Amino acid sequence: MDYELKIRSITSQLPEGTRLVAVSKFHPTEAVRGAYDAGCRIFGESHVQELREKQQIMPEDIEWHFIGHLQTNKVKYIAPFVSLIHAIDTPHLLREVEKQAAKCGRVIPCLLQLHVAQEETKFGFTPDECMEFLSEGEWRQMPHVRLSGIMCMATNTDDEEQIRGEFRRAHDFFLKAKEMFFADTDSFCECSYGMSDDWKIAVSEGSTLIRVGTAIFGPR
Ligand SMILES: *Cc1c(COP(=O)(O)O)cnc(C)c1O
Repeated sequence: MDYELKIRSITSQLPEGTRLVAVSKFHPTEAVRGAYDAGCRIFGESHVQELREKQQIMPEDIEWHFIGHLQTNKVKYIAPFVSLIHAIDTPHLLREVEKQAAKCGRVIPCLLQLHVAQEETKFGFTPDECMEFLSEGEWRQMPHVRLSGIMCMATNTDDEEQIRGEFRRAHDFFLKAKEMFFADTDSFCECSYGMSDDWKIAVSEGSTLIRVGTAIFGPR
């Protein structure tokens, strides 16, 4: 499989400041190696055990991102090495990241997951809940967590205008949160949205991290 061609056809269309997260979940380490050799250095995984196994045998200069729903009791397994946790969906989970990061002597960058899709997905803060969480301010007492932006998933639909509207809502939230809570914090700068079928829309709506699996590695 020609990873280089697929990856280049995506990265060549990304504006400056937007990065590709190659989502390698359920694909073997040979696939990770292929994408690595083609230049990818950021990989996204959504299962803790699989991520740990790959991290142990793959090159050390890979940035591993955890992109899926993270169970609180598994944070400890990835805290020593994970570069970014995309989907903080409860205050409870953030507290656990703080605790485990402190044990490792690390500061772990995290994104707040927003629930903006129409679907009854279980995960993420509504924009109102997320605003309340930020206002309430507990996160300011978490020196081992660095809130770095937001992430979301759009509704699984062919309706491009709906997808665009959802990304726009997430981006509007990001801008408002930036202004209200992180105006002087350069590291609050990431908007993680866009997958294989909607990354072009995501890029045009301000995504800084697109999470693409199938379009690089094929079906899972
Ligand atoms: C699997 C997954 C992706 C990648 O999806 P593709 O459609 O294969 O590109 C992106 N984000 C999350 C959270 C995922 O779980």
